[in-house]
Amino acid sequence: MSVEFVVHPSDHPLAAAERAAILAAPGFGKHFTDHMATATWTPDTGWRDRRVSALAPFSLHPSAAVLHYAQEIFEGLKAYRHADGGVWLFRPEMNARRFARSARRLAMPELDEESFVRGVEALVRADEAWVPDGGSEHSLYLRPFMFAAEAFLGVRPAEEFVFSVIASPAGPYFAAGVAGVTLWISAEYTRAAPGGTGAAKCGGNYAGSLAAQREAREHGCDQVLYLDSADRNKLEESGTMNLCLITATGELITPGLGTILDGVTRDSVLALAPDHNLTPVERPVTRAELSEGCRTGAITEVFATGTAAVITPITAFRSPTDDFTVGDGAPGKTTLTLREHILDIQYGRTQDTRGWLHRVL
Ligand SMILES: *Cc1c(COP(=O)(O)O)cnc(C)c1O
Repeated sequence: MSVEFVVHPSDHPLAAAERAAILAAPGFGKHFTDHMATATWTPDTGWRDRRVSALAPFSLHPSAAVLHYAQEIFEGLKAYRHADGGVWLFRPEMNARRFARSARRLAMPELDEESFVRGVEALVRADEAWVPDGGSEHSLYLRPFMFAAEAFLGVRPAEEFVFSVIASPAGPYFAAGVAGVTLWISAEYTRAAPGGTGAAKCGGNYAGSLAAQREAREHGCDQVLYLDSADRNKLEESGTMNLCLITATGELITPGLGTILDGVTRDSVLALAPDHNLTPVERPVTRAELSEGCRTGAITEVFATGTAAVITPITAFRSPTDDFTVGDGAPGKTTLTLREHILDIQYGRTQDTRGWLHRVL
């Protein structure tokens, strides 16, 4: 069966002048392109009706399974415009594989890797005019997702699914230079438990994180740092980003996989670490090791990784019982160098020796 997405161009694309105004200051996740990719699945037909057509609302029966039992997964990746005008994706096959793993965990049908990547590519081609110049860290953010569309209130895996990709132009994450953020170490909330859905990129994980995020804000923090649910002692991740520590002895430490998300940026940072004289280490880190390490200087830098912000320096932590900074409270030097290194690869400013880039246009 063909994995190609058939293109039906929109008959009402946004006027070029309006698009240019949006691309001049896109923000994040506020504006959407002219098209969307979709495909549908039922047990009888498998995946079918792959198409790219005008962006439009979905029509759903009020009993659609996703609205009641949250059978939904998603991905996030970006298209980058290089100086020569070419448009590239960064390791999209990693997103495709993770999407399939998330689908298995949520008892949803898997979409083959090739269809996933073709759907993303087809949308980027249809909306090429929406891929910003890469000059100052602009990109086209791509959001593939899948949800249970079957009208049925019984609790069992649905028998009708929609796969879709939408796109949103994104400006530089840190508009005013790379700023450090403060993490709230929640004593109240956890994100995932062994055997749960922590390693899947599903909407339900995010729904459960919003109260914790609000708690963090109320304490003057930007994001949450989750601890493991078993003994509330080991660092997990920040809920939308993975966590990395740099030590005075030259290690780049990050918690091992299991209940956290297997981030593409995390994996890339581990691979790049030796280029920066850092030894990559995946192991548990306790809360005491973090706070004492930051106080004694054994831990010199902390940062978080994710597609949207690439690398975010963490400059302070706060909890109901504790308050401490990392280093002198400014973004770390190695953190910023690693950040530039990944951006240089993504925007084609340095050679892609690892074959991470995937050309679309
Ligand atoms: C998407 C996500 C990340 C970051 O993954 P990337 O592939 O690097 O974008 C980290 N943690 C969670 C919970 C996520 O959903």
